[in-house]
Amino acid sequence: MGNDCLFCRIVAGEIPATVVRETATTLAFRDIDPKAPVHVLVIPKEHYADVATLGQGDPALAGELLATAAAVAEDEGLLGDGFRLMFNTGAYGGQEVFHVHAHVLGGAPLGPMLARDMA
Ligand code: 5GP
Ligand code: ZN
Repeated sequence: MGNDCLFCRIVAGEIPATVVRETATTLAFRDIDPKAPVHVLVIPKEHYADVATLGQGDPALAGELLATAAAVAEDEGLLGDGFRLMFNTGAYGGQEVFHVHAHVLGGAPLGPMLARDMA
């Protein structure tokens, strides 16, 4: 994927990011436009477009992504009060960057799960 993908470019070091955790297969960095006191993005270094592709294509890597997200939550002091882990997926999900990323959100009460009740 390489140069066409923003998050592949962050993995390659071509675009700067505030990295908070790195493993052999994953990278966690602060969101450039945080929506909560703590807002960290966790990605696999390998390019997958979204969580459905990752989960079906490489479940072990998906597990490593979750392990990194949990470690970030612990490092950021979120385990006591709780946090939200979110994968926006596709058009209806509001996904803007098509390299799968988990949003780790916390540090304050986050409000309802969705902005509107659509049921
Ligand atoms: P999505 O809507 O795809 O789930 O979320 C994309 C996220 O990436 C947004 O929260 C946005 O603020 C963040 N983002 C977009 N461009 C950059 C960037 O260049 N660096 C960082 N650190 N975050 C970015
Ligand atoms: Zn990518």
